[in-house]
Amino acid sequence: MLIITLQRKKCIGCNYCVESAPELFRMSQKDGKAVLLKSYEKKGFFTLKTKAMHLTEKAMQAKEVCPAKIIHVKII
Ligand code: SF4
Repeated sequence: MLIITLQRKKCIGCNYCVESAPELFRMSQKDGKAVLLKSYEKKGFFTLKTKAMHLTEKAMQAKEVCPAKIIHVKII
């Protein structure tokens, strides 16, 4: 299981995660912050749990390029 978390309120809207992993992230037209696709929200943290392990590398790339360091990736 691949678990990706986004602490969305700290997003600075740089778009790097979308460039690295468009399968996982989009920019919101409303507030200019990143959206983690198919995620659910709890206390400001957006989480996506998926068995699509082929997305692991993309998720790791997004995590590495995020200047705000608000993307976290875990594999269980
Ligand atoms: S890379 Fe980080 S700061 Fe930049 S848009 Fe994505 S989540 Fe926001």
